[in-house]
Amino acid sequence: TLLARAITLIESKAPAPQTQARAGLQALLPQAGKALRVGITGFPGAGKSTLIEILGCRLIEQGHRVAVLAVDPSSTLTHGSILGDKTRMEQLSRSPHSFIRPSPSGGTLGGVARKSRETMLLCEAAGYDVILVETVGVGQSEVTVRGMVDFFLLVMIAGAGDELQGIKKGVIEMADALLINKADGDNLRRARIARQEFALALKYLTPATPGWQTRAHLASGLTGEGIPELWQIITRFAELTRASGAFAERRQTQQQAWFRTLLEAEVLTRFYAQPQVQNLLPQLEQAVSQGQTLVPDAVVQMLDIQP
Ligand code: GDP
Repeated sequence: TLLARAITLIESKAPAPQTQARAGLQALLPQAGKALRVGITGFPGAGKSTLIEILGCRLIEQGHRVAVLAVDPSSTLTHGSILGDKTRMEQLSRSPHSFIRPSPSGGTLGGVARKSRETMLLCEAAGYDVILVETVGVGQSEVTVRGMVDFFLLVMIAGAGDELQGIKKGVIEMADALLINKADGDNLRRARIARQEFALALKYLTPATPGWQTRAHLASGLTGEGIPELWQIITRFAELTRASGAFAERRQTQQQAWFRTLLEAEVLTRFYAQPQVQNLLPQLEQAVSQGQTLVPDAVVQMLDIQP
């Protein structure tokens, strides 16, 4: 499709296609930004893709167009650990109203995130009105995805002994809702207990979004229970925050942060790309490690290089 081709341009590492992609994005910008952007995190096996499949299909039934993107910096190492194999989200991927994109092999988290942001804009311009951004609940990628979505969902399961296992406190504080997933069968009772425990803990945390109380909810991607309620929560969140201004404010902050992050990355890349820098750097590294040059002096010498 046209969209897939455009994204391939974005994900390209060569400068010429990137310039082309930027020009295209700039032209499309007025049509972007209209989607509801939802981030979904949780450790591998928490049931994210099962949940996305069922939620996505339901939204399409309601007339939405759904794009699913993955932000997974580990995928370069493991050859696509999330959204990698085609068997996931089989039903959703067959719909003409869905678009599923695995994590780009951008190498660093910065590279992956950058491409995912641009891909998100393209999807919005192409008419997708719900963007689901999936990330694995390990490492730094939650912070990155929180920085590109309106609503952030943390998917967990109960009954693994310690309810807080594997979930860093900081991640709970970023969430707009906690979902105790797999609340079905024998697991339902444990899920209910876990929900109560989280409900209590949440009372003492500062909500991720001003004016919105983060709560814990039950759901099952297997039976579909709790999924319509989940979407209700997300739409209510969007209504409330749009009315209060928190929605627009977060988007503005995110744009500024993206600008800064990208600028800083580019400044570094350009600095290190200079031949004089590449020449002098190993020499100064050597001198510094031998104790011949003071580190602050070496830094000044590097920065004194004229581009
Ligand atoms: P992800 O790694 O977070 O995307 O998790 P998956 O969606 O791939 O699910 C991991 C495993 O849990 C799979 O074997 C699923 O069949 C199973 N699973 C997913 N959702 C549920 C659920 O709601 N209830 C139960 N009992 N199992 C589930």
